[in-house]
Amino acid sequence: MTQLRDIPSVDKVLASRLLEDEIRSFSREWIVTLVRQQLEKARAQVRLGAEAPSLELVAEETRRSVHELTRPAPLPVINATGVVIHTNLGRAPLSRAATEAAVLAAQGYSNLEFDVQSGRRGSRQAHLQGLLQDLTGAEAALVVNNNASAVLLGLSALAEGREVIVSRGEAVEIGGGFRVPDVLAQSGALLVDVGTTNRTYVRDYESAVTDNTGAFLKAHASNFRVEGFTAAVEPGDLSALGDRLGIPVLHDVGSGSLLDTANYGLAHEPTPQESVAAGVGLTFFSGDKLLGGPQAGIVVGTRELVRKLESHPLARAFRIDKLSLASLIATLLHYRRGEAEREIPIWRMISTPVQLIEERAVSWAQGVSGITGIGATVETSRSAIGGGSLPGETLPTRVLSVDSSRAGRSPEMVLKGLREANPPVIARIEDDRVLLDPRTVAPEADRQILAALHGALK
Ligand SMILES: *Cc1c(COP(=O)(O)O)cnc(C)c1O
Repeated sequence: MTQLRDIPSVDKVLASRLLEDEIRSFSREWIVTLVRQQLEKARAQVRLGAEAPSLELVAEETRRSVHELTRPAPLPVINATGVVIHTNLGRAPLSRAATEAAVLAAQGYSNLEFDVQSGRRGSRQAHLQGLLQDLTGAEAALVVNNNASAVLLGLSALAEGREVIVSRGEAVEIGGGFRVPDVLAQSGALLVDVGTTNRTYVRDYESAVTDNTGAFLKAHASNFRVEGFTAAVEPGDLSALGDRLGIPVLHDVGSGSLLDTANYGLAHEPTPQESVAAGVGLTFFSGDKLLGGPQAGIVVGTRELVRKLESHPLARAFRIDKLSLASLIATLLHYRRGEAEREIPIWRMISTPVQLIEERAVSWAQGVSGITGIGATVETSRSAIGGGSLPGETLPTRVLSVDSSRAGRSPEMVLKGLREANPPVIARIEDDRVLLDPRTVAPEADRQILAALHGALK
């Protein structure tokens, strides 16, 4: 029977030199702490009747915990799911210019809140305002940490303690904890829902107005679609009512595509420009969905309303950091230069001709054709936009379809094997086959995809 005294001592483990590299790379003191933790665990197990671990095993476990505790995160993965804006995989990848702008802002000091010309304090918002006014047609703009905080700021600044009228069809949950009724409650506004789940008219809003109405709120049902016998009030009609009654209209458009998605064979996603043109008081959208930039919440609207948001205490709490600000400006400049489709990764993916995708799928299939027992073919499939934009809207694509059944391997095992590659490859299963969509994989990663497939299938 093993006893506690069979467990190696801290000194013995350290003297074994098995942890030499770790001690050199980090500190002796820290490694000692980790060894002690391993020995503590071993003692508990021995008391329960387990064998005492060898010195080598203790060193190995210590090394494993060193690696776990010093692994940088998040680490890159290859998105072969075909979902362009994949929230769990970090939403929009940034353009080269947007990435470089963030690096530059990170590396040194910058004129973040400093007016170089006058030598006085400046505003971090100033850099963005002109650009957003120009791109959306709005009088004023404000950028915060994300769209959820933008909407919460807007409601808090304009409607705290007052009623906000929302269509029953738009009191929605977007996912990740963003629910319109909850955000309203958090802001201190009182939700007044009007109309029905499928049909709401201007008169529904009008008849709910009281002396205490603070705003009309429209929210884009980003991630679901109501079909059939439906009616929603257009932003322009609601703005006309708001103007007549002196009530501001707030419009959460969600994705905030500056390009017309209909040009890419998708349903038309409401754009911030349309909302501004329709006379909406404030329009809210995300930076990292169809805008293709960093996480950010963008508000555009009238000068008077934006000013109220700027001076609310939450504006400081929600303020955007300099790295995101720098890459957001670089992203918006792509739109200004008319090069968004070429430079912004998500637009490049969305606009890639299916012919080019097919060529890559074919080359992937050729790359794995030699592996025995695996059927790899190119199939017609659909890529999704994702990220709570354009529900049910897909783009035609070609995928590499892997059938591993003859090799006695389940699709789940193949998927797991792909995830164990470096970098991990994330694919999907459909009808017992593993599908990899080249649309969301940068062409530079083709070699890594093939290496991962070989690793997972051999
Ligand atoms: C995605 C989304 C949000 C939340 O935006 P984040 O930038 O993720 O905070 C809010 N409203 C709508 C309609 C959305 O689609």
